[in-house]
Amino acid sequence: SIMPATLSAISNGARHGILFKGGVHLENLSHLKAIAFDKTGTLTKGKPEVTDVLVKDGMSKEEILLKTAAIESHSNHPLAQAIVRYTNEHINQELIHPESIEDVSGWGVKASFSNEEWKIGKADFVGKSEAESFMGGSSIQLASEGKTVVFIQRNEVIVGLIALKDIVREETKLAIDKLREKGIYTIMLTGDSQNTADAIAGEGHLDDYIAECLPENKVEELKKLKERFGNVAMVGDGINDAPALATANVGIAMGEGSDVALETADIVLMKNDLPRIAEAIQLSERMNRIIK
Ligand code: ADP
Ligand code: MG
Repeated sequence: SIMPATLSAISNGARHGILFKGGVHLENLSHLKAIAFDKTGTLTKGKPEVTDVLVKDGMSKEEILLKTAAIESHSNHPLAQAIVRYTNEHINQELIHPESIEDVSGWGVKASFSNEEWKIGKADFVGKSEAESFMGGSSIQLASEGKTVVFIQRNEVIVGLIALKDIVREETKLAIDKLREKGIYTIMLTGDSQNTADAIAGEGHLDDYIAECLPENKVEELKKLKERFGNVAMVGDGINDAPALATANVGIAMGEGSDVALETADIVLMKNDLPRIAEAIQLSERMNRIIK
């Protein structure tokens, strides 16, 4: 049977926009030593905007953008949607769709137009060394500004890049600082490159980050964090985050996240409100004092 103190803490949480799916999760919160955060959509708004488009000398920026947008219009990745939106706003032409398309989760997209093979995605997807030296190494500077760089390859040659910036949520720093005051270690998990991750983790005040983390690696990283810290929570919003939410001692989903994340999580932040995490921990500490 559920203790009155637990019930009252759960209803108190609900009034503050924190949904607990059971008393045990509330109790676990006060023992947390570390919290892992997904980047896109969790620490950031998840609505990236195109900031830079660079194409190789002598190439048509318009043609490259139109083909890239045509390919990306078949992906539901936030980066893909931003590229399509940008192209529609800047070029008034119909998209010509590729004959075949393959969405490679965590890497990018592959497609073919009659006699052309296209690949759009991260450096490793198109060849890391060529990507990093493309146009005098422009991507390094862009990434150190916290931008995500998407490379465009046609018939095995990199022909352009698109940089996108996703804004760190206004309340992220505050939420992370409150957790640090409680002695909780914070770490960001992202599929983004090292330089981009470093800049975003810095903006958000996180203690550490793991970059170039494939969706399937998030679970492995969580297991390692559990070995290192004991009690670890994971905060995420995407379908990709669900396995990691299930692996953590406490899974926390953003209320506007995907259905799968909401179903898998133990706790839901109803308004995507990160500072509520520290409040939830306080509720838990108070409740445990009353019970013990
Ligand atoms: P995150 O962990 O930031 O949510 P993902 O695991 O979804 O990132 O993707 C990792 C990286 O793969 C992205 O930063 C991007 O460079 C590349 N990528 C994935 N999907 C796409 C796509 N549809 N178009 C372009 N790049 C993509
Ligand atoms: Mg996300």
